[in-house]
Amino acid sequence: MPPPAPKVKFRGRVLENEPLARYTTYRIGGPARYLVLPADADDVVKALDLAQSRGLPWFVLGLGSNLLVKDTGFPGVVIRIGKGLDRFEMKGATAIVGAGLPTPLLARRTAEAGFAGVERFIGIPGTVGGGVYMNAGCHGAEFAEVVTEVTTMDAKGKLKQLPRKQISYKYRSSNLGTVIVLEAKLALIEEPPAKLKELQGRLLRWRKAGTPFDQPCCGSVFKNPGGPRTAGALIDEAGLKGFTIGGAQVSALHANYIVNTGTATASDVLKLIEHVRKTVAKKMGVELELEVKVVG
Ligand SMILES: Cc1cc2nc3c(=O)[nH]c(=O)nc-3n(C[C@H](O)[C@H](O)[C@H](O)COP(=O)(O)OP(=O)(O)OC[C@H]3O[C@@H](n4cnc5c(N)ncnc54)[C@H](O)[C@@H]3O)c2cc1C
Repeated sequence: MPPPAPKVKFRGRVLENEPLARYTTYRIGGPARYLVLPADADDVVKALDLAQSRGLPWFVLGLGSNLLVKDTGFPGVVIRIGKGLDRFEMKGATAIVGAGLPTPLLARRTAEAGFAGVERFIGIPGTVGGGVYMNAGCHGAEFAEVVTEVTTMDAKGKLKQLPRKQISYKYRSSNLGTVIVLEAKLALIEEPPAKLKELQGRLLRWRKAGTPFDQPCCGSVFKNPGGPRTAGALIDEAGLKGFTIGGAQVSALHANYIVNTGTATASDVLKLIEHVRKTVAKKMGVELELEVKVVG
């Protein structure tokens, strides 16, 4: 017999056996035992309690734009940080931002308010929480440069305000560990809105021309290895553009993107990742490391 539905009242929603494909940009992924859509920080505590009381693992989800959820799904509590936790406020040149705010919205609102620092993140389709946690970035900028404080909640529901100097950031990673990012303060610099808007237009046009913008994917699959060539250039030179397994394909537009052509399963993508990794190691002598997080 499955355990009875949770009795605790949430202000947000709790969905059972909810397919996660709907919540990832890959449009791939089996069900979560529970998917909690918290309306506020109290709901996040309740979601953690739910996991604890049932002895289930938990996982934080943003916009699912850097995730590959396995076909078998996640046998625990997925806590999706989004609406309700998406505050945006400017205090002088400091942006106070909820983790659930989409990063493109952050980029647009700060630019419109006349502040630079995150304007180049206009095309990163994740949440601020995911970006702060993963140290997302592009076009020579990353979250690590603007974050001054991060509010986190630990597995016991305890809140903490971490100043920037206590956080160590590396390329696409942080040492934040097993916590939920709820809010961040970002230090920005005044700049004319028209100039920022013009730059954002140019960057979006670049993305539309150079990446498979309209196909389900997770952005870059591998981290750039730090040598003279990017992961995309190495995969391209290994002759893998267009290589397909099942419904998963190395994009012909950008070789570090693996796209879901419509019917891909997580298993197709994982097989293709392995093939790319092995081929690049053999032909190019470089071990590629995953940027996408595999869940389940
Ligand atoms: C078309 C496309 C283009 C992209 N371009 C870029 C790019 O230019 N630069 C770049 O860096 N990335 C890029 N990405 C990847 C992705 O958008 C970023 O990594 C983004 O920051 C992930 O945010 P998310 O909310 O979607 O996180 P998710 O994918 O939901 O989660 C990613 C990881 O962050 C954790 N996480 C999410 N939210 C929180 C939270 N509130 N607290 C704690 N942990 C959390 C998750 O547990 C998981 O480990 C791209 C993706 C796509 C699909």
